[in-house]
Amino acid sequence: MSYDCLFCKIAEGKISSYKIYEDEEVFAFMDINPQAPVHIVIIPKKHINGLDNVFYEDEQVLGHIQVVAAKIAKQFPEMKNGFRVINNCGENGGQTIFHIHYHLLGGRVFSWPPG
Ligand code: AMP
Ligand code: ZN
Repeated sequence: MSYDCLFCKIAEGKISSYKIYEDEEVFAFMDINPQAPVHIVIIPKKHINGLDNVFYEDEQVLGHIQVVAAKIAKQFPEMKNGFRVINNCGENGGQTIFHIHYHLLGGRVFSWPPG
């Protein structure tokens, strides 16, 4: 854990969130500023700064997050026709919280390329 990290504190329950899913490795919660009818943030409990700071030892948990995203998506009728999973990395990628996280978005049609 990183002492000044908002998402570490959310995963530990020290800051409240609308929890959607939790297991030993992963925590998922509703985004506070949703960009779609359903907007969920999925994080590893382990503190990792971002996708530009991962190692082979992180493969398992990062792969697990994708399986969790698919599992959560199945629980929301809004995502039955598809959904989007996004990682924003670094300044140019639009990352604002430096604990790696994946956005799971659904309930509308998403354009391509993204903005
Ligand atoms: P990013 O811009 O990719 O770093 O995404 C950070 C996300 O965290 C944004 O979508 C924020 O709305 C979301 N966020 C920030 N603080 C909270 C919070 N306390 N609870 C839930 N989501 C949050
Ligand atoms: Zn953290």
